[in-house]
Amino acid sequence: MSQSVPTPQSARQPATRFVDRHIGPRASDQAAMLQRLGYDSLDALMQAAVPSGIRSVLDGLPAAASETEATARLRELADRNTPGVSMIGLGYHPTTTPAVIRRNVLEDPAWYTAYTPYQPEISQGRLEALLAFQTMVEDLAGLPTANASLLDEGTAAAEALTLVRRADRKRTDLPVVVDDGLLPQTLAVLHTRAEAVGLPLVEADLREGLPEGEFSGVIIAYQRADGTVIDLAPVIDAVKAAGALAVVVTDPLAQVLLRSPGSLGADVVVGSTQRFGVPMFYGGPHAGFMAVRSGLERHLPGRLVGVSVDSAGRPAYRLALQTREQHIRREKATSNICTAQVLLAVTAAMYAVYHGAEGLRVIATEVNDRASRLAAGLRAAGIEVASDRFFDTVTAVVPGRAAEVVAAARESEIHLWRFDDDRVGIAVSEPTTDAHLEAVLAAFGAGSLPDEADASLEPAWLRDDEILTHPVFVEHRSETQMLRYLRRLSDRDYALDRGMIPLGSCTMKLNSTTEMEPISWPGFADLHPFVPARDAAGMIELVETLESWLATVTGYAAVSVQPNAGSQGEFAGLLAIREYHRSRGEQARDVCLIPSSAHGTNAASAVMAGMRVVIVKATDAGEVDLDDLRAQCETHADDLAAIMVTYPSTHGVYEHGISELCDIVHEHGGQVYVDGANLNALLGHARPGDFGGDVSHLNLHKTFCIPHGGGGPGVGPVAVGEHLVPFLPKHPFHPDADRRQAAGTISAAPYGSAGILPIPFAYVAMMGADGLTDATSVAVLAANYVAARLGDAFPVLYSGDHGLVAHECILDLREITKNAGLSIDDVAKRLIDHGFHAPTMSFPVAGTLMVEPTESEDLAELDRFCEAMLAIRSEIDRVAAGEYDATDNPLVSAPHAAHELVDWTHPYPVAEGVFPAGTTQDKYWPPVGRIDNAYGDRNLVCSCPPVEAFA
Ligand SMILES: *Cc1c(COP(=O)(O)O)cnc(C)c1O
Repeated sequence: MSQSVPTPQSARQPATRFVDRHIGPRASDQAAMLQRLGYDSLDALMQAAVPSGIRSVLDGLPAAASETEATARLRELADRNTPGVSMIGLGYHPTTTPAVIRRNVLEDPAWYTAYTPYQPEISQGRLEALLAFQTMVEDLAGLPTANASLLDEGTAAAEALTLVRRADRKRTDLPVVVDDGLLPQTLAVLHTRAEAVGLPLVEADLREGLPEGEFSGVIIAYQRADGTVIDLAPVIDAVKAAGALAVVVTDPLAQVLLRSPGSLGADVVVGSTQRFGVPMFYGGPHAGFMAVRSGLERHLPGRLVGVSVDSAGRPAYRLALQTREQHIRREKATSNICTAQVLLAVTAAMYAVYHGAEGLRVIATEVNDRASRLAAGLRAAGIEVASDRFFDTVTAVVPGRAAEVVAAARESEIHLWRFDDDRVGIAVSEPTTDAHLEAVLAAFGAGSLPDEADASLEPAWLRDDEILTHPVFVEHRSETQMLRYLRRLSDRDYALDRGMIPLGSCTMKLNSTTEMEPISWPGFADLHPFVPARDAAGMIELVETLESWLATVTGYAAVSVQPNAGSQGEFAGLLAIREYHRSRGEQARDVCLIPSSAHGTNAASAVMAGMRVVIVKATDAGEVDLDDLRAQCETHADDLAAIMVTYPSTHGVYEHGISELCDIVHEHGGQVYVDGANLNALLGHARPGDFGGDVSHLNLHKTFCIPHGGGGPGVGPVAVGEHLVPFLPKHPFHPDADRRQAAGTISAAPYGSAGILPIPFAYVAMMGADGLTDATSVAVLAANYVAARLGDAFPVLYSGDHGLVAHECILDLREITKNAGLSIDDVAKRLIDHGFHAPTMSFPVAGTLMVEPTESEDLAELDRFCEAMLAIRSEIDRVAAGEYDATDNPLVSAPHAAHELVDWTHPYPVAEGVFPAGTTQDKYWPPVGRIDNAYGDRNLVCSCPPVEAFA
């Protein structure tokens, strides 16, 4: 054996650079790609592609850290937090995430790197998991239809508000009553949403009956913020008698014991499933939920998983009513929610699968019993307890002593909630022990914890119906069974851990392990969002540092990370614009111009912000028609509020007119909203705040490496110019006293989905300014390389200077597929046989594919994709030439599932069907054949079907 020679520093250097791990193509590959395009450097390519008028150089970020250094920095920040034992409650509770679920769902790239399940044939695993989520919510709520998650409890309640107005057109303008017992942050989100569209809300204590007058709906707190459980039946009866819709906000764990709102006549039930195994994450991400009675399912916002059949007639899952939300239909959308909380919904559903009804009943009963014994212990010491009817939260009345008691508990690292000077809230949760309660009693100066206590729930209020009876909630009790179930589901799905997902507008890039690991550290994951600022010092520093970095890279004055999806960032940005106009006495400015090619969330958000949408035309070249823009601006000179424009355009092109566009809008008194979803084409090369934007939202789940999670979570920070800073999101419990107010609250938590912010923090820290700039250049290089390789086979619909595209390209398949009698779907499904996720389909132009390769895909993978597309092109030609049967060929019969091999009925050879050129023994097999969309929408089944269905 030879002695190992120490590696010289220079040779070791490259292996420690994160940027070289993040960017796929090696230097020599980049050179070959550049050569193909006729450029001799990345710089030269970017000089040619990006208009000189908007170009800038990025500085002001710290030097790139290595993975080890970034990890150490994050450890230090996590260590500066004191999660302690959280008994604050108010919608956020400690929970024990079963380790088998933490490791094999939350921390498993097969789950977290998947895209939204728009291609159902390759998403059967997460669709099944989401169906279990829907079934769980339906059982707990006692209603027949639930959606596949919403963003949090606050936004779920706000979506219910919209549903109530939409459901009964005759009552649209009537006020809605909201219970003053709702959680303060839920009330704040409701007021912000209602105010935006001029909807009057009336706050009332519903235990005292309904207020006078007519209403369209009533939003009821089943458990009030102080913990009191109300007698729900008479309240719902009164709402029904008044002809209004009854919306009930409830806690899923309490719901395991309490009569379901549905059984008492509720129309809509909403809440958050956080305490079903999802860490508190300093406020998010968590899966909100909504269930509705029959007759309201078509008003249900968000995604809905349903059951259909595949080409062999076997049951298969898909998103129901998909065309409705997939490319959110502008003003007609039922909401602006696109990215939801799939990963967290899957986690919550698996928590129910793991525990089953019995296990959940044990947990809920123990929580309630401990809360009852705590109340008894307080009373025994002569301390008044605000209510005798509660599930998990006891409010102690200690006149003038609240601060002192909370401080005493804090000495034992227990966080209690100080409602005001006289009242302290104590919330019991799954991990609470008797020892914790003893320490709480000691903080009150009370005696020891009694072994028994009177019941704190009326026996008549308890549910006696069976829940979670479907086999999925019964059969996976041992860890071996659970592990195999999770593996079976994730094996059915195609995610980034298998290959490229070239989704235009969605930027499916690397989600590195170093970025991901810190989110599970207790210092971040176990923080309650309302702990005192000093107990979250490391987290707050992380947030503020990230906000300042994001301001630096975008050229804006300030950023707020509160919006927990791009759609919410849009809403927050538009509200800031509206408040700005109002602050200048220009109330009349309410028109929002939106180019015809815009993403559907744009128009839906404008409507939510109380604006009128006016569409601006596109030129034949796909650019915003500046003549039409000028004309619209003149028509609306007095009432123009804003334009929402995506840059580079949704057509994937750096338009030259952007600076002029901004000038025209500004001249007419409007503000410019630059949708930042395509920042992956700008970062390091141009800053929206410099080239005319007043406000942007960024999608940290696209450009900044937060994984898509199979359709969420996301973070959609809003970035604004100096003049809009006062109008950034607020929150009633914001750690920063200047932003502490209810009006202007966008999400339930002050920093939204704070728990996943270590991901973009690590990304920016490890890339530095140069790394981010290079990543953009390589993303543009990869898109142009694909466009060049495929351009002869599939025309590239739009391009800019020097025939270059930005970070994505639109392949025009309309003529080609039409001539062969095929559809864009046939191409997308055939890509599955090749082991690829299809690009974005039919957005922004019907019949096209939008390809975004990103900087993370290596050259071999890019080539494999191009070769698959070229092979598909020749198959299309053979169909057109009549060489293949028009009704049964490798395209229309794609994807080919393994079971077809047993009884091959197609007129073309087996090998041609299942092993198209380039596939290897590692080929991905779709678990089902082509799924029938129309059948699914006609036969809406949105809960786990009975086992017989699978016979
Ligand atoms: C993704 C996207 C959005 C919306 O972001 P979500 O997080 O899904 O709400 C808005 N605009 C564009 C152009 C996008 O691509």
